[in-house]
Amino acid sequence: MAEETIFSKIIRREIPADIVYQDELVTAFRDISPKAPTHVLIVPNILVPTANDVSEAHEQAMGRMFTVAAKIAKKEGIAEDGYRLIMNCNRHGGQEVYHIHMHLLGGCPLGPMLSL
Ligand code: 5GP
Repeated sequence: MAEETIFSKIIRREIPADIVYQDELVTAFRDISPKAPTHVLIVPNILVPTANDVSEAHEQAMGRMFTVAAKIAKKEGIAEDGYRLIMNCNRHGGQEVYHIHMHLLGGCPLGPMLSL
């Protein structure tokens, strides 16, 4: 069984976070250390540790993450200019929290996708 992370506590509202959206499948909250004017994390309510662990059973939640990202981008006023959606996986991907999440970043030009 995968170990819970701080994100499960945020989803259950056991610890504070700036939650901007929540429904039966996903929760979205502002990143504690924002890398852009808008930096929101969109997570499934159930614990899926990494992109490697996604299965057919998660397709509804994964799809909802995208529709919620689009809704939040509109609400934040960044949809027209554009934004970036990122999911990091494991060590080489730079994943720090092992509860799969989508970063929604925008509000300024974000520069090149990668700087190795
Ligand atoms: P990763 O590197 O795993 O893709 O991204 C994890 C993200 O979670 C980081 O951007 C980090 O700032 C954010 N984060 C880590 N702990 C917390 C927390 O307790 N609250 C919030 N809101 N964000 C967190």
